[in-house]
Amino acid sequence: CGIVGYIGHREAYSIIIKGLHRLEYRGYDSAGISIYNDGIKVYKKAGKVSALEEFAKNLPVTGTIGMGHTRWATHGAPSDRNSHPHASNNRKLTIIHNGIIENYATIKETLLAKGHVFKSDTDTEVLIHLVEDIATATGMDLKEAVRIALNKVIGAYAIVIMSEDDPNLLIAARKGSPMVIGVGEGEYFIASDATPIVEYTKNVIYLNDNEIAYLTREELLIKNIDNTVQTPYIQELDLKL
Ligand code: GLU
Repeated sequence: CGIVGYIGHREAYSIIIKGLHRLEYRGYDSAGISIYNDGIKVYKKAGKVSALEEFAKNLPVTGTIGMGHTRWATHGAPSDRNSHPHASNNRKLTIIHNGIIENYATIKETLLAKGHVFKSDTDTEVLIHLVEDIATATGMDLKEAVRIALNKVIGAYAIVIMSEDDPNLLIAARKGSPMVIGVGEGEYFIASDATPIVEYTKNVIYLNDNEIAYLTREELLIKNIDNTVQTPYIQELDLKL
């Protein structure tokens, strides 16, 4: 339902929580966050963003890369365990996702046969397990594994992926679900609409369908899922928003 991501030099937690509050108008049933703090920490709760904040109150939340999600359940009841982010089988990758992976059941069956253990009832968790499976089977790096995985899924998505092995990388992609990237100085913001971004930067890139954005603190690369490099079109936000 709602997506917020941050990579840069500021504390990600407050930017993400504030952003999730700004997206509350869309309606949601659960909220969660991944933050890199000596490994990836995942905190998630059914209920309001304020319940997530209460839960995380005495937990480590410092870190300059992270992502948050408000969920509107489509596959799997609203619950703590079905809330996003979801982790891969080896727990190193985490994902947040808006939309529906239509062919998740077929993919899940194949992965179950390979010994994957699922911790939720969501379509989303299947996608991040698939990414890990492709990376492990082929030796591809994460960026390429995400691209190959997205070529195998049918459905609509806006996703953000983080890896414990690379705390200087956020991967975002979309197909049929909106996604905006805010461009700052040595920092990037990601959101499902511009409302969480406006107070930080006016320079935004609207990701197109079938595009994947690879974001580090230093640079942004956008590719189409067929592997062609795209030239990012940075535009100024209309403040009337
Ligand atoms: N299909 C996913 C789920 O049920 C994502 C729902 C959403 O867009 O929030 O968990």
